[in-house]
Amino acid sequence: MRAPYASDPAISRGRRHAEAASPPRDDFQRDRDRIVHSTAFRRLVYKTQVFLNHEGDLFRTRMTHSLEVAQLGRSIGRALGLNEDLIEAVALAHDLGHTPFGHAGQDALHECMSAIDPDGGGFEHNFQSLRVVDRLEERYASFDGLNLTFETREGILKHCSRANAQWLAANDPTGVGQRFLDRTQPSLEAQLCNLADEIAYNAHDIDDGVRSGLLALEQLEALPLVRGHLDEVRRAHPALTGRRVLFETLRRLLSQQVYDVIDSTRASLASQRIATADDARQAPVLVRFSAEMRRLADEVQRFLRANLYRHPQVVATTDVAREVIRELFSAYAAEPAQMRSQQLGDRSTSRAVADYIAGMTDRFALQEHARLTGRRLAWPQRPRADD
Ligand code: MG
Repeated sequence: MRAPYASDPAISRGRRHAEAASPPRDDFQRDRDRIVHSTAFRRLVYKTQVFLNHEGDLFRTRMTHSLEVAQLGRSIGRALGLNEDLIEAVALAHDLGHTPFGHAGQDALHECMSAIDPDGGGFEHNFQSLRVVDRLEERYASFDGLNLTFETREGILKHCSRANAQWLAANDPTGVGQRFLDRTQPSLEAQLCNLADEIAYNAHDIDDGVRSGLLALEQLEALPLVRGHLDEVRRAHPALTGRRVLFETLRRLLSQQVYDVIDSTRASLASQRIATADDARQAPVLVRFSAEMRRLADEVQRFLRANLYRHPQVVATTDVAREVIRELFSAYAAEPAQMRSQQLGDRSTSRAVADYIAGMTDRFALQEHARLTGRRLAWPQRPRADD
């Protein structure tokens, strides 16, 4: 049963270009279908999160991450009576704007763009995800992009700098970036996707980190949130060893966080007397962890930053990734004709280069780098996961 505060496709704020309905699908289901059929979605298979695509077939990619966010989001959303189709659409699209090579690629592209035009908004992956669905996908005869509903686009634009929000205010009549200027919230479904994203990556980065050998199971004992579950698994299954200890621990961790979000969000919906989807937009963030879980989850993020994302072996690889992006950027900016089937349209050359690079898979970026520079970069070796 959908709650009265769930987003309702029948009263959607609509699409940028009017289209006839497509029964039996409603508008959010149609958005989800368009995302799944898009080129950018298919490429998520070959884009990485923390590890690089060529480092092993067993680590998360942006595709598997997006599916995990959709799964967690729908489970929690079902319990809260939210709109599962909208949750799924936002979750599957939330990372479409990510560059190759994870955050290292994004940082490098942001530096390249900011150096050329300090006031041009640089490169932000959330803003880029919106560009992908609004403009860069080329599938329909009468419009650019996927022509998604306001609610799906609102959820995709998870963060937005003031500069980019002002650009949207001047150039996008739908008001999709207005909340960053007004400091209001998006729909409950969008809020949930943000939190499901965090729950998913904390758990799967621990998983990939341990299976890669960069993190030791014993290190996790320093984290109160993980420690309790680890102790419980060892108590319940004294003979258990290896990866089953890790997976039993992580599934308990996921369940605890899912139940925490359900309980805390129900409490905040009740205390704020939320009756409609628009009430939720005017209230403080409602889909949330309890204060205690927030503290514990922040601790996990600090731990992952210090021990995994800044692990010397990860840093050595991301340094090479940054170099690839910088050199690709210079090569295309100097000779835009090297970009295949790209028309500038009303874009600056640098923005067209950023769009082109952001759309690449890890593998294609490396091929192009070798083609344009004549050099093959040496990647640091890393241990591989064994399952
Ligand atoms: Mg994500």
